[in-house]
Amino acid sequence: MDARVLLRRYLEQRRELGESELVLDGLNVEDVMRLLGATGSSAPSAEARRSVRQLAGEQPDDWRTALQDAGVVVDTPVPGSRAVPPPAETVRATPPAPIPRMAFPPEPISPAGAEAANEMAARKEIVAPRGIVIASEEAELIPGAIGKLESLEEIAKAVKDCTRCSLYQTATNPVSGEGNPHAELVCVGEAPGAKEDETGRPFIGQAGQLLTKILAAIDLPREQVFICNVLKHRPPGNRNPLPEEVAACSPYLIRQLELIKPKVIVAFGTFAAQTLLNTKTPLGQLRGLVHQYHGIPLVVTYHPAALLRNPAWKRPTWEDVKLARRILDSSPRS
Ligand code: URA
Repeated sequence: MDARVLLRRYLEQRRELGESELVLDGLNVEDVMRLLGATGSSAPSAEARRSVRQLAGEQPDDWRTALQDAGVVVDTPVPGSRAVPPPAETVRATPPAPIPRMAFPPEPISPAGAEAANEMAARKEIVAPRGIVIASEEAELIPGAIGKLESLEEIAKAVKDCTRCSLYQTATNPVSGEGNPHAELVCVGEAPGAKEDETGRPFIGQAGQLLTKILAAIDLPREQVFICNVLKHRPPGNRNPLPEEVAACSPYLIRQLELIKPKVIVAFGTFAAQTLLNTKTPLGQLRGLVHQYHGIPLVVTYHPAALLRNPAWKRPTWEDVKLARRILDSSPRS
């Protein structure tokens, strides 16, 4: 379906619910509706933009892309700007209204779709352009002591005693990560939220339950993967992680990945993606590519908490996790 039709529907629903702003973009619904109505006059350039996207192999069925095609600038990370999606805060903040249970994948897979997917898997085909390559020559990527931790349990113990930044002072429990130490797929989120802090387990709140469904949709029980975050202690009030906290904590994540040696990493949300890929590029532009993180393929997708607020992102997320699945299926058996 045309992305603008999807977007229009989405906006109509938002308007019916009495909303005047798109939560993640701070855009006014009426302004965007007017813009969509006015796209007729700028159709040639919008068409041209769409063609360029298609030629570049980008996903056209994302309403954010449709907004860009309609001439609206979105997802521009200008600090303090009204249109900046607030990745960390919004992503982990407790939603104001009850959130409906969300089905995943977004719609039943049609027999034809399933057949095509199986065929592609059988051909071991990965149709996605290459993205950012992270490969460090630095000897001191992992500070001495963390680099010597020999198991995930040792990492968890070190995280428990960690005072490398001040977050341990306000957190209730460390949240090192959990799952299969030999996982072929590792999920990386941003930082523990309230529930995670309370229990010491990653992704167990509402967003975590959706993550479990997302994994099940690509045939991966939660216990089969490893789930962790960039930060291992909760930032107070779910505030955005600070650069010094990321610098202090990320060696633990690097060591976890080094020990697990997964076949694919999925970065959920802007924060995890930008941290792992050392970039400020907006998430919309990091999706759909196969990046390399120290030799491990890395796929970027929306944070499950963002999906709870924007069901329209379920479709692109489904595409992203299917890509991760194809990478798994095409990697040599170990
Ligand atoms: N959001 C995250 O990024 N990680 C969690 O563990 C929970 C919520």
